[in-house]
Amino acid sequence: MAQLLKVEDLKVKAEGKEEEILKGLNLEVGEGEVHVILGPNGAGKSTLGSSLIGSPEYEKIGGKVYFKGEDITEESADKIAKMGMFLSFQNPIEVPGITLSNFIKTSLEIKTGERIRLWDFKKKLSETMKLLSMDEGYADRDLNVGFSGGEKKKAEILQLLMLKPDLAILDETDSGLDVDAVHIVSKGIEEYRKSVGGALMIITHSTKILESLNVDKTHIIVDGRVVSEGGPELVSEVNENGFEKYENM
Ligand code: ADP
Ligand code: MG
Repeated sequence: MAQLLKVEDLKVKAEGKEEEILKGLNLEVGEGEVHVILGPNGAGKSTLGSSLIGSPEYEKIGGKVYFKGEDITEESADKIAKMGMFLSFQNPIEVPGITLSNFIKTSLEIKTGERIRLWDFKKKLSETMKLLSMDEGYADRDLNVGFSGGEKKKAEILQLLMLKPDLAILDETDSGLDVDAVHIVSKGIEEYRKSVGGALMIITHSTKILESLNVDKTHIIVDGRVVSEGGPELVSEVNENGFEKYENM
């Protein structure tokens, strides 16, 4: 598989702070591959996701990030999104004053550089919301404002399916969801694989959403570094034995 993402010795700290959170992290993802990121709380998984998409909350103080062969280490979040990278946040923020529908339409227009016909957009949005068993009324509500945890996660998957990125980073998209919501989120992810064929980087503590996916590679992150890598078998190994044996590596 051709290389899609390469993270080389990445060192990251939070803006305005001194301490390194990522301490020389290495990772590679090929086009269309499914990768799983495991690691104890506080290991730096969410920081990795946010840093990759260019969040100004974090500062890259060493190393390089390449996406589609281009050095994006210093690129803005807008440019990175436009290039086809997407992050589903662990804690999606509420955005009063912009509806879910307008948010997605604007994001699509930025990504494609074209104006989108409202009729076509509404039709596609409505079909995709049906697939995710989302009440269509949510399209005209302010983004995430007053949404339940499950609705926020579904709204993230809706964006994923509408924006069709080449790399989707899902940060604990399955956590805190009831069984029905996990099922719907899984269905959305499967649909993304089928219709877009994009690569996935799944940060998770559970195996539920991995069941319907063919995992190519697993990475274990402890204290800001990838300390072990393997195939899908590593997921069940960690679920049985925990992270203890990786914590002093
Ligand atoms: P994980 O997602 O693996 O649980 P995080 O990436 O959220 O871990 O956090 C890794 C470490 O970095 C934690 O100790 C956390 O407190 C710290 N951290 C993350 N973001 C910030 C921030 N914006 N400011 C200060 N510390 C942060
Ligand atoms: Mg996290």
